Amino acid sequence: MPEFCAAYGCNNQRSLQTRSRGITFHKFPTNESLRRQWEVALRREGFTATKHTKLCSEHFKPYHFDRTGQIVRLRDGAIPSLFNFPSHLQRPVATRTTKVARKAEVDLSQHLPEAEPQPNA
Ligand SMILES: [Zn+2]
Repeated sequence: MPEFCAAYGCNNQRSLQTRSRGITFHKFPTNESLRRQWEVALRREGFTATKHTKLCSEHFKPYHFDRTGQIVRLRDGAIPSLFNFPSHLQRPVATRTTKVARKAEVDLSQHLPEAEPQPNA
């Protein structure tokens, strides 16, 4: 049975070609709430994962993987976050934590060394 990646705009399927590129395929989590977070992350309307649904490793950050064993595993609690969405889908997920994290990133990138506040003597 061929294994395709369920991500939007991703055509990866398990083959010698993807394997040679180091792409691995991962089932959706069995944990209900975690699986829901994956489904939300995919942003596919009306999408529900089945036990056959897979995502490829291109949608996870490197630290999400446990490469210590024979097979590459996803770490517990890993949530896919790297997708090629069309522009109308590219908006941040409206959760408080995401917004705070994004703001922190922006603040860091805008930080100018010469604008450092004077230390309070
Ligand atoms: Zn994929």
